[in-house]
Amino acid sequence: MSNIKPSLLEFTLKELQEQIKPSFRAKQVFGWLYHQYAENYEDMKNIPKTLKDELEEKFLVNPMKIAKKEVSSDGTIKYLFELQDGKTIEAVWLKMKDAELDENGVILHEAKYTICVSTQVGCKMGCTFCLTAKGGFTRDLTAGEIVAQVVSLKRDNDHKHNRMINIVYMGMGEPLDNLTSLAKAIEIFKEDDGLCISAKRQTVSTSGLSNKIDQLGKLDLGVHIAISLHAVDDELRSELIPMNKAHNISSIIEAVKRFPIDTRKRVMFEYLVIKNKNDDIASAKKLIKLLSGIKAKVNLIYFNPYPGTPYDRPSKADMVAFQEYLVNHGLLCTIRDSKGIDISAACGQLKEQDEFNRVKAVTSSKISRD
Ligand code: SAH
Ligand code: SF4
Repeated sequence: MSNIKPSLLEFTLKELQEQIKPSFRAKQVFGWLYHQYAENYEDMKNIPKTLKDELEEKFLVNPMKIAKKEVSSDGTIKYLFELQDGKTIEAVWLKMKDAELDENGVILHEAKYTICVSTQVGCKMGCTFCLTAKGGFTRDLTAGEIVAQVVSLKRDNDHKHNRMINIVYMGMGEPLDNLTSLAKAIEIFKEDDGLCISAKRQTVSTSGLSNKIDQLGKLDLGVHIAISLHAVDDELRSELIPMNKAHNISSIIEAVKRFPIDTRKRVMFEYLVIKNKNDDIASAKKLIKLLSGIKAKVNLIYFNPYPGTPYDRPSKADMVAFQEYLVNHGLLCTIRDSKGIDISAACGQLKEQDEFNRVKAVTSSKISRD
């Protein structure tokens, strides 16, 4: 990446003020980036040309472009971005709740959206159920490339400044394996003069690097964590998530217990349900035992199959029985609704599909470039 210019999205306001003098100009540029979602220097109307020329020498405004976009019938939009070095990553725009209007059409509650972002090109963790793992690891994303996903999705969906958004670090890659960029991006998202997305609205999902959970906790950024647990015994977990051999279940549970969480909140445990692997009531029973003493909530995820996978999607009946068992034993548990099921819902699937289709023209009428 050495021959590639960094973007202005790499910096906190304070850092930008070190680059741009006088400092009110830095604040104006920050506003152009995060309130107007400027795509280039031309967009920045009230910034003197000399300053823009100076900045352009050193920094890009937008470090990536939308290479592909798929719109699902439920409103989910999946994006494939092309980075400066030609590598591709995904981000997803999810509509969580429709706006509520009164009888006069006045908005009572804004629609709620969540953006799912990637943190790496590929992933080192090698999970056997995950398409991202199949392509191996290419590189970490910079903080600016993480931030740019949110700015681009807000821009593309005309999502006005100061409207609420949640961020989940559940796209491609293992966020805690790229802790420096992750922590920086979290700070940039929080900026009062920028996107103003509080840490409470940001959830880091991890496959369970227990030492990094501790490191994130020590940074005390205020973010939520979600643990991709997926199995209740180390044998199966190591089959599904090979790095479990180095960070076993008990080390993760201990790290979660040390993690600073808002006392009103719960730690989310994601449990990917795979047919005849971990969908039995005996596993549900073990899960309750494992999470006792933790203010936890469980999110059950249907395994989303793809060509060549050895695993199957569980039946709805088994999924509901698993959920009911947990709920009846006092554990909060939801089933993740499969948003975007008709596009390529789970992480890594749009990219893979793109690679399969690279030589073919994109023909689906659901796909558009703008
Ligand atoms: N690396 C992090 C975050 C990205 S993966 C982590 O593993 O938590 C985000 C989520 O997608 C994880 O919970 C992962 O288990 C899930 N996932 C991966 N492949 C999937 C598949 N084929 N079907 C359903 N969920 C999948
Ligand atoms: Fe990486 Fe998460 Fe996929 Fe595992 S599930 S390979 S940690 S992205």
